[in-house]
Amino acid sequence: DPTLVLQAITKTYGKGKPNAVEVLRGVDLQVQPGEAVAMVAPSGAGKSTLLHIAGLLDTADGGVVQISGQAVDQLSDRRRTAIRRNDVGFVYQFHHLLPEFTALENIVLPQLANGVADREARAYALDLLAKVGVDHRADHRPAALSGGEQQRVAFCRAMANKPKLLLADEPTGNLDPETSDTVFAALMDLVHETGLAALIATHNLELAARMDRTVRLQNGALI
Ligand code: ADP
Ligand code: ADP
Repeated sequence: DPTLVLQAITKTYGKGKPNAVEVLRGVDLQVQPGEAVAMVAPSGAGKSTLLHIAGLLDTADGGVVQISGQAVDQLSDRRRTAIRRNDVGFVYQFHHLLPEFTALENIVLPQLANGVADREARAYALDLLAKVGVDHRADHRPAALSGGEQQRVAFCRAMANKPKLLLADEPTGNLDPETSDTVFAALMDLVHETGLAALIATHNLELAARMDRTVRLQNGALI
């Protein structure tokens, strides 16, 4: 079964007002487990809106969102939040790590919030850091890490609660080409090794070509 199903998703900001912006006009998309889908979109096309709807941070006006077979539209806010925290990981261009905590702690905290025991959370955080080659920086705060190291820690944090779906918005956008390559390779390994489904917005057509499939968001629909 697909991890993410979007069916006929519509979204208008300022509905009914003269300055209404119709952003999504019927978006259909399925992302399978172990599949990385690149989403290419001109600025303002509605990429963030779509990622927020897919990640249950925002609601569509119409259409169906399913995560791991569960239709989320009729659920209470509380259930939606629980699904977002358990099943969805987010990565942004700028990483938003907590500056007063170490790299390790940044990955431990979401697990503790999810009820994982401290010792287990630390062990898993170290595993994740090792996977992307930054375990030697575990005890440093973000400010002491390079941009690429910070972004790799951010990936680990997004993966901390073993999400089924990873949503990324230009995840390597602020990195130099070599670092971007390392971070991207780590991401693709996670997708293919763990059966994670990933929807990754990017302007980088070279990166898009290395994913399993590319969709283009244009005029409110995916082609
Ligand atoms: P992208 O991420 O592709 O740049 P967005 O999803 O951020 O695009 O925005 C798509 C369109 O919707 C833009 O024209 C933007 O100005 C508009 N928009 C986004 N958020 C809001 C909002 N909260 N209220 C009104 N218009 C919005
Ligand atoms: P927390 O457990 O820290 O309260 P949330 O449930 O609020 O986390 O958020 C879960 C994920 O959604 C986090 O990765 C967070 O970065 C992201 N997130 C939350 N709110 C927003 C928002 N308004 N815009 C973008 N991302 C958000």
